[in-house]
Amino acid sequence: MTLLVILLLLLAVGLGIGVWWYRDQLRQEQQRQARDFASLSERRREELHAQAERTSALFDRMVEGLIVLGADGRIRLANRAAGALFDFVPPAEGRTVLEATRHHEVAALVARLEHEPEVLNHELRLESVAETRYLQVNALALRTAAGTRDGAILVFHDLTRLRQLEAVRQEFVANVSHELRTPLSLIKSAAETLVDGGRHDPAITVRFLAIIEKQANRLTLLIDDLLLLARLDSGRIELNLTDLPLQQAAQEALDDSAVVAGARGVRLENRVAADVSAHADPERLRQVLINLIDNAIKYGREGGTVVVGGRVLERGRVELTVRDDGPGIPAESRERIFERFYRADKARTREQGGTGLGLAIVKNVVHAHGGEVRVESAPGEGTEFFITLPAAG
Ligand code: ADP
Repeated sequence: MTLLVILLLLLAVGLGIGVWWYRDQLRQEQQRQARDFASLSERRREELHAQAERTSALFDRMVEGLIVLGADGRIRLANRAAGALFDFVPPAEGRTVLEATRHHEVAALVARLEHEPEVLNHELRLESVAETRYLQVNALALRTAAGTRDGAILVFHDLTRLRQLEAVRQEFVANVSHELRTPLSLIKSAAETLVDGGRHDPAITVRFLAIIEKQANRLTLLIDDLLLLARLDSGRIELNLTDLPLQQAAQEALDDSAVVAGARGVRLENRVAADVSAHADPERLRQVLINLIDNAIKYGREGGTVVVGGRVLERGRVELTVRDDGPGIPAESRERIFERFYRADKARTREQGGTGLGLAIVKNVVHAHGGEVRVESAPGEGTEFFITLPAAG
């Protein structure tokens, strides 16, 4: 009997211990699961955060402006480019498109998406006091799986630079055509005169053949300059860089211009210091110098003086200058004379027979050497062009 009681007691104690042990294990397991769950959700939160950061960095790096609208028509997300285009600070969450862009045409586009699934390649003009910008807009209506409206995405592509380049190209083609037409029409009318009987008079023949030759030479010059500029523009020009003493380079260019200078009674002076050497392409530099010296003779004072100077500057650079004592360049033209076909005094310069490309070539060649070009001019006192180049060595 006593033994039975003892056995029952032992059994009860054993059961109690078993239940306690089981509960303890269960508690530990629950704690472990809770810890795992907490760290899992922390990791998930971090992942989501990192993903959101990546997405927003990606959107902000986009060149195109991007605006995402929610079902209520309010902005959910707008990237930096969109902010820059419409002058607002992203993300602009909660604002309407009209509030953020202040542009009725954009709001009208969003309204169109109520009835149309997308609006593609819509062109937008943004006028401001400073400039006009051209945008291409692609807008897409978003729908849920059930087909209800769920906002929209607007992508803005800035076409302004493209439009500007197109305008420059058109102007360039118009200018080239104009420049070609003048000598061509002179050649044509000289040839017609000869065909129509002028050839029977030796004096007329000689005069008109000389016109044809002169204008054909002018066409050749123009085409050579155009081809050179095209090669400079596309970076297809290879510079044969070498250490070049500039006093000698200046003298060779001055010698080449001596006949033209003589015809206008212009005195040429070489004042380049003996120790100045540049790291430059001799052939290209000669072209630059001849263009500047020829201009100084053509547009300078008849019977005047043209001086080429040169000195060593700081930080491994040298300077070349070409100065005349002519009428100078008006202030409003000074900025523009390096543009293709720009002429300060149209009537006068055309009669001088220039292509209007000389200074554009000078600027491009000097830039290709890593140098700079600028001009100083005072009305009535003359003009001086300054070129910097890398020094030799
Ligand atoms: P162009 O073939 O007409 O000489 P350039 O590009 O060499 O073309 O020069 C552009 C314009 O700059 C010239 O048409 C002229 O009006 C002006 N210009 C250039 N050099 C001088 C100068 N030394 N003095 C006055 N005007 C100049």
